[in-house]
Amino acid sequence: MLRILRILLAVSVFVGLNLFVFGFAAGTGVLAQVQFVPACLAFNVVVLGVVAGVTLLAGRLYCSIVCPLGIFQDVVLWIRRRFRRTSFLFRAGRPVVRAVAAALFAALLLCGAASLAGLVEPYSVYGRFATHLFEPLAAACNNYVADLCMRWGRPCMLKSEIFIRGWSALAVAGVSLAALTVVAALRGRLFCNTVCPVGAVLGLLSVKAPVRIRLDAAKCVKCGLCAKACKAECIDVENGKVDQSRCVRCFTCIGTCKKGALSWK
Ligand code: SF4
Ligand code: SF4
Ligand code: SF4
Repeated sequence: MLRILRILLAVSVFVGLNLFVFGFAAGTGVLAQVQFVPACLAFNVVVLGVVAGVTLLAGRLYCSIVCPLGIFQDVVLWIRRRFRRTSFLFRAGRPVVRAVAAALFAALLLCGAASLAGLVEPYSVYGRFATHLFEPLAAACNNYVADLCMRWGRPCMLKSEIFIRGWSALAVAGVSLAALTVVAALRGRLFCNTVCPVGAVLGLLSVKAPVRIRLDAAKCVKCGLCAKACKAECIDVENGKVDQSRCVRCFTCIGTCKKGALSWK
């Protein structure tokens, strides 16, 4: 139930944000304002307070429901699972890599190198995918269907211009989309838990969240099914622990456990 609710919310946010980025629904622009880094840069204390408060209390729900790049990675994984069974393994976290990546990101921002920092900032990365890749692709699909309609004697669709905003930006978007797709398909949320600066901050805030994924050692038979399903690779079955700083609160593991040993409370 929790997982279905989370998916419904994530899909609504993802569709709303894409409508906004493609210029179809100005009303959904509020979803852009609740993105973490844009809110930091705009000194939006209300948004930052809410995101920090929710994360301190209940963990990284932001990463499964609000961030378009996180949802994009989930879509990649979902598509992969349609073709092939996926299985993850528990791996130890990389707090040093995360800290260095976050410090580098902050240093780049402070030095005014925003375009370099934007290479890993989640909302910028997704924005590049949407404007440089998905939008021209959508226009090309639209034109193809319009041509088909015309050929069938039913000219019911208008063609639209395929707008390329710059070949270098297109190349950057293409390379990062390809890289992130491969990483998400093979290692789930590895980008989120090593490179993403927002993930590093929210991971720190969620370590002590009182509402957390709990593993009841008395019920657990150590079958390992939950660890295989966890895209954050953060369930340590042997030691009966869940790394709360890497858990993105997707709730997949709860439905996987047939012994009722996992809960979010
Ligand atoms: S860790 Fe970063 S990229 Fe991943 S979902 Fe969270 S904010 Fe988005
Ligand atoms: S799926 Fe349940 S029983 Fe199996 S290892 Fe995970 S918590 Fe334990
Ligand atoms: S521990 Fe459970 S809720 Fe957390 S990321 Fe892994 S599967 Fe999702």
